Amino acid sequence: MRRILYLIIIIVAMITVPSVSCAQSFTVVLDAGHGGKDAGAVGSSSRNREKDIALAITNEIGRLLQQNNKDINVVFTRKTDVFIELGRRAQIANKAKANLFVSVHVNALPKNAGHHAVGVQSYTLSLKTVGTNLEVEKRENSVIALEGDAAKQYDYFPSAESDIMFELMQDHDMKESVEFAQMAQKAMVGIGRKDMGVRQANLAVLRLTYMPSVLLEVGFISTPSEEQFLMTTEGRNALARAIYDAIVKYKQQNS
Ligand SMILES: [Zn+2]
Repeated sequence: MRRILYLIIIIVAMITVPSVSCAQSFTVVLDAGHGGKDAGAVGSSSRNREKDIALAITNEIGRLLQQNNKDINVVFTRKTDVFIELGRRAQIANKAKANLFVSVHVNALPKNAGHHAVGVQSYTLSLKTVGTNLEVEKRENSVIALEGDAAKQYDYFPSAESDIMFELMQDHDMKESVEFAQMAQKAMVGIGRKDMGVRQANLAVLRLTYMPSVLLEVGFISTPSEEQFLMTTEGRNALARAIYDAIVKYKQQNS
């Protein structure tokens, strides 16, 4: 009788104790840029939107991770076409105590700037580009204007004094951020995308996260050949696979 009781206790413990908490020591947050009322960059047709391409890629990365890497915990900032403030995206990652934050975006040249830009870029945070008006900063931070009152609760761009503190806080994540950016960049170039380099920009979503964080620009929707590539399932899946490989490699080297 007592043995049966022990058996029941063991079975109940196995069911109720979340065994995954030990196995999944590495958490990655996948952040599909834009969403809902914020379409992001738009291609030659209004149906070709950054928000959909980014979502398709992050959902595929997540699918690959969940299927093949049970030791990696995957958190999505969005899995559907919804609007989420930049600060909220960072909050999700901070709350999950993520080891890595990967934001996926699609690049575009401004209207009338031509249709010839080709390639992929991987961005880490830099505070030093304030005032330089980098095109990517203007575009990727511009969603703040759509956030209305919600934007006020996030300290997107603090004062110069608090920047010093902030820089100290962020310093320890910088090396890892650059390391992942280099891996992701190499993997995307490995599938035949043109290398536009690992870069730095003052991107709001990156400055609010407290872990290694990278924003990937996976191609130019303003360039017909790249738009075409990004609008195919094959193209998006190839990019997802490359980013997935980089995440797995980064995890192996950092845990
Ligand atoms: Zn974007």
